[in-house]
Amino acid sequence: MTIEPGVRPLLSTRAVAKSFGNVIALRSVELDVAPGEIHALLGANGAGKSTLVKILSGVYQADAGDVEVEGESVRLSTPAAAVAAGLATVFQDPALIPDLTVGQNLRLTGIDEGEVRVWLERMDGASLDFGALIRELPLPLLRLLDLARALALEPSLLMLDEITAALPADQAEHVFTVMEEWRSRGNSVLFITHRLGEVMRMCDRATVLRDGRTVASVAPQEVGESGLVEAMLGEVVHGEPGAVRTARAGVGQVLLEAVDIGSGDKVNGVSFRLHAGEVLGLAALEGQGQDRLFEVLAGDRRPDRGEILVKGASLRARSPYDAVARGVVLVPPDRLLALLPQRSVRENLGLPLYDRIRRWFSVARDEKEKVADAIDRLSIDTRAARQAGRLSGGNQQKVVLGRWLTAGFQVLLCFDPTRGIDVRTKAQIYGLIRELAADGAAVLLYTSELAEIPLVCDRVQVLYRGSIVDEQPAESATEESLLTAAHGIRSEEVA
Ligand code: ADP
Ligand code: MG
Repeated sequence: MTIEPGVRPLLSTRAVAKSFGNVIALRSVELDVAPGEIHALLGANGAGKSTLVKILSGVYQADAGDVEVEGESVRLSTPAAAVAAGLATVFQDPALIPDLTVGQNLRLTGIDEGEVRVWLERMDGASLDFGALIRELPLPLLRLLDLARALALEPSLLMLDEITAALPADQAEHVFTVMEEWRSRGNSVLFITHRLGEVMRMCDRATVLRDGRTVASVAPQEVGESGLVEAMLGEVVHGEPGAVRTARAGVGQVLLEAVDIGSGDKVNGVSFRLHAGEVLGLAALEGQGQDRLFEVLAGDRRPDRGEILVKGASLRARSPYDAVARGVVLVPPDRLLALLPQRSVRENLGLPLYDRIRRWFSVARDEKEKVADAIDRLSIDTRAARQAGRLSGGNQQKVVLGRWLTAGFQVLLCFDPTRGIDVRTKAQIYGLIRELAADGAAVLLYTSELAEIPLVCDRVQVLYRGSIVDEQPAESATEESLLTAAHGIRSEEVA
């Protein structure tokens, strides 16, 4: 469904494209936002929503394509240029400086404090102390502050990237009220959310991205939730990475068990058992508590409720070192955090062979062999090997994984290990994960790319608003069945 004839779009993009190195984030995006509408931007994780928003905010520069505001081509070369064109954004990740106060943050961007206060009062945030440090404030309040800040810029198009993911229901209501008011003033809102109920209720139209391309522009009320899911999925393409699930030796003992774990309002009673020799997938949309769950499992944060058992014995980790000492290790999403970027590939691979990571001593000969063996098995391109930080993202990730291969750790917590990695390297990484499982490791794999879960996992659990809401055997799981469950929709509601 396109804009009614005769209505000039407030914002149009034509064939917008953007790559990061050899990762293509946007192939060709066509978007028309009419004046006075709330327009949903939908798509599975990795479809390119945030990248588009960042281009429209002047944060990234498009490689190709056109952006028009009220029929005029605009160059959004800086964030200031975007604001001048009437575009303001609440980004997916909070954009406030933690060690400054609220007031200092606002002054830094030259935004009128009085205006921000007016909007905050409307959203029940009147009590916010502008002298408080950002890092001392709760996340929901910061999201509302980000929103008030964007509104104070009086944009003709307000862009909200998953703002409700971090908000409890009552605070989400404040956001909806403000969105409706913004529309009633003749302005527009571009609204990104994974909650289809919010789309049905709030949005006049929706544009759906898939794999960096616009695939549909529809009226949610006309197509219904199931129509939106269908548009997001399209046909499921099982190209590379190829199926790497290998014949299994059968699962062994329970290596890691979560018993009714709770953490704040992010994780609510998660239980599962992870066996030797298996890869358990975790499917979730963004902001469902997966970050917190991994933090807790990796010993980076104590659970508020419940217990973690490693081979049947309670793990009361005070730090990740305690978890590592019990054989539970994390492959974090930020590869650079897991590497010593200045050190060589060999040193990085040998890292766990050094006592407790902190104390360095010389590596014994057989350990050196293990490292050489890992480089070989992983086909790590070591031409840039003097500094791990100079390797490509994919090769860095292989080093992070290969480190656990050399050390023989037993429980591997992999958090989105293939984010931003090309297909060939992805297949190698999945192959490696399967190999580790075949050697007796237990792997918990969260990936934002649902289509890949059936290729590498044995079974998959779905996390929704901090709870496991579904479990499927990976063999029969499809992107559709996972996406449906990940939206908290039960399959009979879609069929
Ligand atoms: P969405 O917001 O729809 O989940 P994104 O726009 O964040 O998707 O990401 C689209 C694709 O671009 C993904 O494959 C992601 O890994 C990749 N990507 C996004 N930002 C970067 C970046 N700064 N560097 C490399 N790859 C990126
Ligand atoms: Mg995003």
